Amino acid sequence: MHVNPIKVNLVTGGAGFLGSHLIDRLMNAGEEVICIDNFFTGRKANISKWMSNAKFEFIRHDITDPIQVEVDRIWHLACPASPVHYQNNPIKTAKTSFLGTYNMLGLARRVNAKILLASTSEVYGDPEVHPQPESYRGCVNTIGIRSCYDEGKRIAETLCFDYKRMHNIDIKVMRIFNTYGPRMLPDDGRVVSNFIVQALKGEPLTIFGDGSQTRSFCYVDDLINGMINMMNKDETGPINIGNPDEFTIMELANLIRKKINPNLDFVFKPLPQNDPLQRQPVIELAKDKLEWEPSINLSEGLDKTISYFKKSIT
Ligand code: NAD
Ligand code: UDP
Repeated sequence: MHVNPIKVNLVTGGAGFLGSHLIDRLMNAGEEVICIDNFFTGRKANISKWMSNAKFEFIRHDITDPIQVEVDRIWHLACPASPVHYQNNPIKTAKTSFLGTYNMLGLARRVNAKILLASTSEVYGDPEVHPQPESYRGCVNTIGIRSCYDEGKRIAETLCFDYKRMHNIDIKVMRIFNTYGPRMLPDDGRVVSNFIVQALKGEPLTIFGDGSQTRSFCYVDDLINGMINMMNKDETGPINIGNPDEFTIMELANLIRKKINPNLDFVFKPLPQNDPLQRQPVIELAKDKLEWEPSINLSEGLDKTISYFKKSIT
């Protein structure tokens, strides 16, 4: 009998920002990859270079419907991540998180695959504990405009742990904090891409609220290293993956303005409902269990991202 020793990876959401960087890393390592995406926020251009590669296969599919494929590892990333996108059709967002994760866990069970869930710092909501360790249970509004995403990811985590308890599925739950880099959409709506695109176009930077709210920004290459380490380790999680360097939104705006055009104005807009006022990961678990920590600081990561946007929007 011929036993195929090659491991097959399924990447859901593989045409998106993080998914396409993950696919590049897997393909460059000589692995087999099946990418599933419905192109809601993903782009063909992000994966086009692999389309004619025999080790790559693309399936246009919406993960709210079940699918049967033979795979060994499932990297489950499909879900819009920008508030603008996930609030565009909040019912669909909740369905993607719940039904999509349910379908992927069902697939993992049928084919005996490992599954990694791209969860989020949003499970901590607008946190009352700062910085946020994995043991913090969060402060999430169940009925606000962010709830479709936050609660969607919370039920996705719950499903993973129930599949582990009931069916002994090999799950990995990774809580990703704000990540940025090349291939974010120019109209993505997230703060790093918004500020860079506005600055390159000579437009004022849009500060929501007074800009005193904080985020901790992780460069995409660091994030993908953490994701790969987690899949390869015998750890269930949840584990925070993010860069603990914390900045106010005003500090970020000033840094980007200084790098692109120091004469630009700021325009202040209302802070969206339930916008978390502070966010910073505790990454001791990632350091200890995954031997991972970020190595690219904000200034360096912004330079790489700015040079990407300079090429892609001009
Ligand atoms: P993205 O929007 O660029 O990518 C999401 C991808 O999923 C897109 O290609 C989209 O078309 C696809 N998709 C969405 N709904 C789908 C569906 N129903 N069926 C099939 N495909 C679908 O976002 P991203 O930043 O790459 O985020 C990827 C994952 O990481 C998401 O699960 C997100 O929640 C998580 N995450 C990202 C961040 C971040 O800062 N980038 C932070 C926390 C968590
Ligand atoms: N933000 C902003 N201007 C923008 C886009 C976002 O001031 O043009 C703020 C937003 O209110 C939030 C922070 O930047 O406080 C991060 O927003 P993003 O959408 O990037 O991520 P999330 O809120 O999901 O962390």
